[in-house]
Amino acid sequence: METNDSLSSVTATAEAQEPPSTLLFTVEEIDESDTEEPPPSEGAVSGARYPQLFPSLFKEKEFSDKTISIHKQASTIKTRSFRRLYYPNVSMVQWNDWRWQIQNRICTAGQLSRFLKLSDGEIQALTYAGGGLPLSITPYYASLLKAKNPDHPLRRSVVPVVNELYRSEGESDDPLHEENDSPVPGLVHRYPDRVLFLATDFCSTYCRYCTRSRMVGRSSDRDYGKSHWEAAIAYIEATASVRDVLISGGDPLTLPDEALEWLLSRLRRIPHVEIIRIGTKVPVVLPQRITMKLANMLKRYHPLWMNIHFTHPEEITPETENACSRLANAGIPLGSQTVLLRGVNDDVTVLKDLYQRLLTCRVRPYYLYQCDPISGSSHFRTPVEKGLEIIEGLRGHTTGFAVPQYVIDAPGGGGKIPLLPDYFQGRHGSDIILRNYEQRRFSYPDTAV
Ligand code: SF4
Repeated sequence: METNDSLSSVTATAEAQEPPSTLLFTVEEIDESDTEEPPPSEGAVSGARYPQLFPSLFKEKEFSDKTISIHKQASTIKTRSFRRLYYPNVSMVQWNDWRWQIQNRICTAGQLSRFLKLSDGEIQALTYAGGGLPLSITPYYASLLKAKNPDHPLRRSVVPVVNELYRSEGESDDPLHEENDSPVPGLVHRYPDRVLFLATDFCSTYCRYCTRSRMVGRSSDRDYGKSHWEAAIAYIEATASVRDVLISGGDPLTLPDEALEWLLSRLRRIPHVEIIRIGTKVPVVLPQRITMKLANMLKRYHPLWMNIHFTHPEEITPETENACSRLANAGIPLGSQTVLLRGVNDDVTVLKDLYQRLLTCRVRPYYLYQCDPISGSSHFRTPVEKGLEIIEGLRGHTTGFAVPQYVIDAPGGGGKIPLLPDYFQGRHGSDIILRNYEQRRFSYPDTAV
């Protein structure tokens, strides 16, 4: 077996993707004036590398620690210990700056091997040069991973293993046929009254089971700049049936505030767009991004909803709780979506814990997805019976708010189809026969005409 040390010079499958700095917006100045937290008391931020990361943001004004105030975050002992051990020269202020987190993403096998004792299967995947879904993990999320356990649920969801290199029967790169329902690049119009707006292909951390792994992390293939957005906006303006726009990607909350606000304001100007939704995993993998400035900006574009991608209860940390709290305090209704993943969260105890804890964060569990048959996902997929068993183990056994809708996004573009255990057991005369969560049967007089 190859040792971790020998990996130090190995470059991972794909090089680090540039974050979304290609936005063609001029920003006069950055003023992250958080209002809730005290000013930073530890260390100072060096801005030397920021202009490379967000050239448009720093065009007009050089970064300095006076132009950005970074909030202090509560964090677990594990995360604090991780920072001290692996980033001894990085201050709390830097660590809690989302730009620092993005700039210091872990994108190569060599970087990852500093923190994790990699398994053979992980090494094989990381050294494969076939150009699959890139590796990218924020240092914050890396602090949550268990160094010696390749079966650790969070680790499995972000560190590639060799299984993802094989395509099994029934899998495809675009099983939901999103490309077929795309009237203009970056926009999916499948359902009558709503569209999916793919604002970026960039995520701070890539999930190994991503439904859009065919497109995320590959900005060299597509233009996600302003001209791309303009075409999608023009389509929405011309399509009066669209009353709901879901901004997703990639992860739209990795965009700079100014770019996101530009998009939100353009959409808000369209009279028939009633609601805007954002789909994101940022509060989970990059909670530092949810600054007060961002929350204050977002609340100007209500009604705005947000669905957050959670996978496991270990993702609920003080940082994530704080991020959810800021968003909820900004009046944004929060939902969660979770992909059911073998060996990660396919256990009713795990998901009940996740869902109950989400309710305490004011996040309503919304969807539990059967894992889509994307290429290289067979090691993640569970039998459908497992999903039904989990819903059975939740419904009636805990708060109804903690029970999401279990859905299969039908391959071929059929859309989301809900599945329920067999609570409806048939008819007896004019009665319908039902069973409850305790397996007791009841009849309901279905006599209304
Ligand atoms: S955050 Fe969403 S878009 Fe990004 S890799 Fe994960 S599942 Fe895919």
